[in-house]
Amino acid sequence: MSDDLYRKLKRLSAVETDQPLSKMTTLRIGGVAKYVVYPNSAVALDAVISLLKKENVPWKIIGKGSDLLCSDDPYDGVIVRLDRHFRNYYFDGDQVISQAGASIIALSVDAAKNGLSGLEFASGIPGTVGGAVFMNAGAYKASIADILDEVFVYRNGRMEWIPVEECGFSYRSSIFQQHPDWIIAAARMTLVPKDTKEIFSLMDDRRERRMKSQPLDQPSCGSVFRNPENVNAWQLIDGIGYRGKRLGGAVVSEKHCNFILNTDNASARDYLDLAREIQDKVREKYGIELQMEMERFNWPEEK
Ligand SMILES: Cc1cc2nc3c(=O)[nH]c(=O)nc-3n(C[C@H](O)[C@H](O)[C@H](O)COP(=O)(O)OP(=O)(O)OC[C@H]3O[C@@H](n4cnc5c(N)ncnc54)[C@H](O)[C@@H]3O)c2cc1C
Repeated sequence: MSDDLYRKLKRLSAVETDQPLSKMTTLRIGGVAKYVVYPNSAVALDAVISLLKKENVPWKIIGKGSDLLCSDDPYDGVIVRLDRHFRNYYFDGDQVISQAGASIIALSVDAAKNGLSGLEFASGIPGTVGGAVFMNAGAYKASIADILDEVFVYRNGRMEWIPVEECGFSYRSSIFQQHPDWIIAAARMTLVPKDTKEIFSLMDDRRERRMKSQPLDQPSCGSVFRNPENVNAWQLIDGIGYRGKRLGGAVVSEKHCNFILNTDNASARDYLDLAREIQDKVREKYGIELQMEMERFNWPEEK
């Protein structure tokens, strides 16, 4: 990629060069990205994306990188990040409008302080609001789709609100996954007034449950596999005897075997091979096809 592109990007946004994706993901795995940009307004975002499209440069939006398995290869493209400048939220009665780069944990805590219930499920999900909408993130039988009214989307050079009915939400799935060039800029949610103490008590209870059941002290990207119908992925992984299984620096957690941890600087390849091995063994033993929940990014040879 040319110095010319760098100069053009620099006019529109803060730009960092040669940044490891391992520093942008909770799994701490990933090769070096050529450029990372932090647009500071909707106008700058529009100008950056228009430029990248015009120059035919690959780009990828990343929130907190908590759902990504990046390859160790260099990424010769531009990472677009909203978590520096698009992270405000505004409460208005029982509604909140949040920019996409806000931490969903911070938002859920502030909603509780404002006596608004509905985001308790999200208080342990280490992503952004944009990433949560993209994934339809959820826990404890609730998901972000349940509280969303509309999503502010940048697509085809325009910013527009899309009603929740048009977002195609289902379990860990949304229309945004079919349109990687759409950018979620903000979301409007309706919450329910409730006693602050009661909300915090539920959040504390859930935090304790997570701490007891999940290996939160080591790098991971959360659950590796989606739960198939009527069974938990962890039960199948336990059933094939893979609790604690290691491949290089990648290890199936002893505490929660739907988590694969990066211990000892695991390579992306070890991580993916271990996940694939699990898929094969589960298919052989149970005839069930486990689907990966985390997204693979920058694996050109896998396309
Ligand atoms: C310890 C741990 C626990 C977790 N627990 C849960 C859980 O209980 N429930 C759950 O659902 N998930 C869980 N996750 C997974 C993850 O946190 C969620 O999927 C989260 O919503 C991802 O948000 P992110 O900002 O990190 O997205 P990223 O990982 O940065 O990106 C994920 C995808 O979203 C896209 N994206 C991000 N922002 C935007 C945007 N503004 N516009 C368009 N596309 C965008 C990216 O391009 C990418 O394709 C967990 C992860 C960890 C590490």
